[in-house]
Amino acid sequence: MKSDVVIVGAGIAGLSLAWTLASRGKSVVVLERGAIAKGASVRNFGMVWPVGHPLGEMRKLALRSREIWLDVARETELWVRECGAMTLAYEEIEIQVLAEFLEQADQDPGVGTLISAGEVLRRNPHVKSKGLLGAMTSETELCVDPRVTVGQLASALAKRGVPIHFNTLVGRVEPGVAIAADGQRWEADQIIVCATPDSHQLVPEANGLEKLRRCDLHMMRLAPKSSLWPVMSTHLCAGLTLGHYANFRSCPSLDALKVFHAEKWPSQTKYGIHVLVSQHGDGSLTVGDSHTYGDDSSPYLQAEIESSILEALDEFLDTSGFEVRERWIGTYSTSPGQFYAWMPVAEGVHALNLFGTGMTLSFGVAERIADELG
Ligand SMILES: Cc1cc2nc3c(=O)[nH]c(=O)nc-3n(C[C@H](O)[C@H](O)[C@H](O)COP(=O)(O)OP(=O)(O)OC[C@H]3O[C@@H](n4cnc5c(N)ncnc54)[C@H](O)[C@@H]3O)c2cc1C
Repeated sequence: MKSDVVIVGAGIAGLSLAWTLASRGKSVVVLERGAIAKGASVRNFGMVWPVGHPLGEMRKLALRSREIWLDVARETELWVRECGAMTLAYEEIEIQVLAEFLEQADQDPGVGTLISAGEVLRRNPHVKSKGLLGAMTSETELCVDPRVTVGQLASALAKRGVPIHFNTLVGRVEPGVAIAADGQRWEADQIIVCATPDSHQLVPEANGLEKLRRCDLHMMRLAPKSSLWPVMSTHLCAGLTLGHYANFRSCPSLDALKVFHAEKWPSQTKYGIHVLVSQHGDGSLTVGDSHTYGDDSSPYLQAEIESSILEALDEFLDTSGFEVRERWIGTYSTSPGQFYAWMPVAEGVHALNLFGTGMTLSFGVAERIADELG
């Protein structure tokens, strides 16, 4: 039977789009090659992170997406925590960059506030006090648990009559049809490929796809050692993160900060490490990450990357109540200066790529796409 839309890929990109289109009355079918989704959407921090997006249009989109996440959570009973975030500073140059960023954000008072070291420790006694100068707080961040969210969303969609066909590897897409490896044909007016970082295998002709680079990230899950676990209260990160997110790029002192960090953190700089920490409903911490670019990255987890992440973590967080329980690699594709790409491939065929902030932007982008498709 022909449907309005066939979506390839049951990660957050495919599922948020399926949710939005189905809510508007479209008939949608989702095809997923795995028995469950195992891509970036289940390997991330679960951070819905508006503060990492540049002021203006991208921040607005991230905030809209956050609003929809909360609506969807209410409707589906997904676990979501309105936790906010703290960006900790242990160096004067880090405080300087944060102050410059907040000055630029002056017109948008919701972006953040600088607080003292004493106030940081009052909010989170597990933050390390030695050398702490203060932090930028932000109230807009959410935490979801990627391990359960995608599965729960898939179940909620199935209950709403959106079929998700697992174990269905799509081998080819053409206008009006997605053809599975077993030859089964799935016909629709619109075919949308949400299969990153492997979309190019299906749609190599998509605009700009050849410019994409794969990025591998080393991640860890730290489990609490006892049932009375230390509570983090917010997402946490520190100075190294300032060199990573686009929102800080217009800060005049950023170049000086990068030079400073390259000297202070040589191994972390080599592996593109900045450390983020999120805490989920079972008390466990998701900690990462490193950034290794290119198709020829190693399939093996490297001990040096892990020890460099833990070294940077040790500057700002007392993790004595936790132990490393799991390690994994997550992969996304990147494209310089882009936050997402909605790419026409052929008549009625598109590819959607959410790059490195898809948990944040997914529902906002899905809404934009649904508006465009009408
Ligand atoms: C380590 C890591 C941490 C991150 N942390 C955050 C964060 O905290 N906050 C944030 O906003 N973003 C974060 N991101 C980014 C975010 O996770 C991604 O942008 C998002 O998950 C991408 O979703 P997706 O559905 O496009 O991809 P995926 O989740 O990878 O889903 C693609 C799906 O397509 C399927 N597929 C592929 N090819 C085929 C085929 N031929 N036929 C059928 N199915 C196919 C795959 O099996 C897969 O399930 C992180 C990413 C990583 C890797």
